[in-house]
Amino acid sequence: MFSSKALFKMALLMVVLYSCGTSQPARRNVLSGTRPSTGQKPANPNSSEQTVFTKPEQITKQPSKTEERQKLNTAVERRQEPVSGNASAPDANATYRTPAYYKYITDSIQRTSAKPSYYKSTENLFKQMAVVPNPQNPAINSQWYTTVNFDARKPNFVILHHTAQNSAEQTLFTFSIARTSVSAHFVIGRDGTAYQLLNEYMRAWHAGKSKWGAITDMNSCSLGIEIDNNGNEPFTEPQIQSLLKLLTYLKNKFGIPQANFIGHADIAPGRKDDPSSYFPWKRLATAGFGYWYDSTNLQQPPADFNALLALRVIGYDISNPANAIKSFKLHFVQTDTTPVLTDYDKKILYNVYLNYQ
Ligand SMILES: [Zn+2]
Repeated sequence: MFSSKALFKMALLMVVLYSCGTSQPARRNVLSGTRPSTGQKPANPNSSEQTVFTKPEQITKQPSKTEERQKLNTAVERRQEPVSGNASAPDANATYRTPAYYKYITDSIQRTSAKPSYYKSTENLFKQMAVVPNPQNPAINSQWYTTVNFDARKPNFVILHHTAQNSAEQTLFTFSIARTSVSAHFVIGRDGTAYQLLNEYMRAWHAGKSKWGAITDMNSCSLGIEIDNNGNEPFTEPQIQSLLKLLTYLKNKFGIPQANFIGHADIAPGRKDDPSSYFPWKRLATAGFGYWYDSTNLQQPPADFNALLALRVIGYDISNPANAIKSFKLHFVQTDTTPVLTDYDKKILYNVYLNYQ
């Protein structure tokens, strides 16, 4: 038998143990959905592709109870929107890494974590944007006034990619999980199906370390479109038709200039080679997306023509000239991507460059 004092001590010990075991779980990173570091390697080796947000210091005004209720109802409504393709058991042919396999697990991930995480992230971002700046910011000795004239920043570039994967389903899976730390606004399947993964005003993680002109944060000013293609095959006709439709919509919606439809390889020479030389840049340029050269009127460049500076004027990062030439040739020459400009290549370059003067 235990004395009442011993029983009291045991009860106290149990309470302490229980409270330790039920301590609050670590807070999740609102953007990646991952838990904060617990000693393991960060998911994204290129931390510049992510933006770390700090806790909002001050919200414009505290919402009333009615507003809170409305907000909750809206959130509930959004969560009840239909999930594209209900997760059903994969068919008999759905072996590991087939499109059916990826569709099955992606639909399940979308329903259980990706969509809830998306809504949570957007809500947190909206809160960040509503933070009132420090009324007297000591760093710049400022005073706080408000303007009534503003809206959201808009994308001004479209960056095209090929997925280098084997199916759109595989890419959708890649973008649905936090540990990959990559995303794009749109994916276009081989059958022409377009998938949207992110509101166009949000910043996707598709460009990585890149540079175009003097811009070094391409993710902040661009939309990313991933085209389902393994890199060694032509793009399909339904895919290109679907892409042209999407580009028309985006160009009109955001007023994106013709020059600003470019490829991942253009903004990351030496690091990226997508989209591949199969990509129909000429057809896109004819439709008003990006530039092409006039093959019927290729003139000899003037004697003082500086090819490297012309590449720089177009936008290429020429810190490694050979890589800049390879990226230019992947886009505009396509028949060879050696890091040397032939006389014919220089004529093409001069002709393209004239569009940028
Ligand atoms: Zn890419």
